[in-house]
Amino acid sequence: MNIKHTTISCPHCGHSMHVELDFSGGDQDYYDECANCCESIHLNMHINVLAHKLELSVSADDEQLY
Ligand SMILES: [Zn+2]
Repeated sequence: MNIKHTTISCPHCGHSMHVELDFSGGDQDYYDECANCCESIHLNMHINVLAHKLELSVSADDEQLY
């Protein structure tokens, strides 16, 4: 099983939460819900094959900060 556990911070309230990333299926783009403030969190997972690294970006879907 290609499962990686990591901790992210909610972009809305800063609450730390634990997520399981299943990277056996390649790149993933999905939404999770914060257990603290119940806002949706946009998670974008990218597998960097060259560096054998998992890159995860977390963003709040309702704001455009970048
Ligand atoms: Zn939150």
